[in-house]
Formats: sequence, structure tokens, C-alpha cells
Amino acid sequence: MLTNRSQVVVKKEMTFIERMYLPAIFSGMLITFKHLFKKSATIKYPEQTREFSKIYRGQHVLKRDEKGAERCTACGLCAVACPAEAITMTAGERKPGEEALYREEKYAATYEINMLRCIFCGDCEEACPKEAIFLTDRKVDSFYTRKEFIYGKSILVEGLENDKRVDVSVRETKAVEEFKKHKEFAHNETYDKNKKKTVAGH
Ligand code: SF4
Ligand code: SF4
Repeated sequence: MLTNRSQVVVKKEMTFIERMYLPAIFSGMLITFKHLFKKSATIKYPEQTREFSKIYRGQHVLKRDEKGAERCTACGLCAVACPAEAITMTAGERKPGEEALYREEKYAATYEINMLRCIFCGDCEEACPKEAIFLTDRKVDSFYTRKEFIYGKSILVEGLENDKRVDVSVRETKAVEEFKKHKEFAHNETYDKNKKKTVAGH
């Protein structure tokens, strides 16, 4: 004997009541009955939805600047920071005349996030020096094929029109807000619609 934890199993004969199984059935039904009066843990989705946490991180957005140019400069920092290796991109060189399309001389010609790999950790957002990528409170859709979960620029880049812009103000940290106060940085220049030009220092 290696230990003294062994026990002798005794086969106990069941009583007449136990053999009828009625007490066990009734005690089981009592537990079920008690749950009828408890608040349900489930909801009737999709008719009902739960409120998301304020810090919920969902589908990414690639932001444009005030003029509508894509902020991403294809530096690759988000891809390096990504622990799930979900981000891939190829860089392109901006041509003369494309200043309104891309903010920097180098831009992301392709940018893809594999949503099946992504763990929504937010590291890409933190790594980005251009405030180009943010996670939002939007849910990633369901699809039948794996290929459809590879989100390209057509899904990730926000729309140009005002109603298609994605508000990410809740994701901007205090450090970001502080940085934005420095309008002398080219990164923080804003676009004055009336003057139709970029305005620094206001
Ligand atoms: S949220 Fe995290 S896992 Fe998803 S793409 Fe960004 S860094 Fe990668
Ligand atoms: S999203 Fe940001 S970190 Fe990623 S490549 Fe673009 S500029 Fe760089």
C-alpha cells in the first residue's frame, strides 16, 4: 500500500423508498421549481441586447484626419505589437496629387486584420504613433467562411462623409489628449473648412 488514503467500498442495499426514486425526482424538481422565481440569467437575443462595458474593445477602425486623408503611414508598429500576428500590410508611396488621400508620403496600400486571430487586446491601438488605428464598440460580424474574417481597408477605413466617421473619443487616453493640445506639431494640425487650409496653433 503506497498511501493510507484507500477506502473500502461497501455495497449498500437501497431501501424500498430509494428504489422508487421518488425522493430523488422530487428534490430535483424542487430545484427546478425554485429557479422559476429567480431572475433569468439569459436574455432574448437578438430582440434584447445587453449594454456594453465602457471599455469594450470591438472591431477596429482606420481613421482619417480632419481633411479626410488616411492617417496610417504603414510603419508596421501595430503589426509588431500584435501578440496574435493578426495584422499584415504592404506600403505604398504617395504620388503627386494624392495628398488629399494619404496624410503621409508612405501609406498602407493594403492593410488586413485577421479577425479570427485577433484577441482584441488593444496593443495595436497603443502602438500606433499616428492615431490611425482604434478599437471601437462595434461587434465583428459572423460569417460562414474563414476568408470573410480577413478585414481589408474597404471595411477598416472609416467613410469620408461626416455620418460615416467613427467616433473614437472614448478610446483616447489622457496622454493623447495632452499631446493633442500641442497644435504646433504637424501631427495635430486641424483643417479649417471655411479657410480651406490647414491651420496650426489654434
Ligand atoms: S487588438 Fe490585439 S490582437 Fe487584435 S489586431 Fe490589435 S494588437 Fe492584434
Ligand atoms: S495603423 Fe498606426 S501603427 Fe499601424 S501601420 Fe498604420 S500608422 Fe503604423
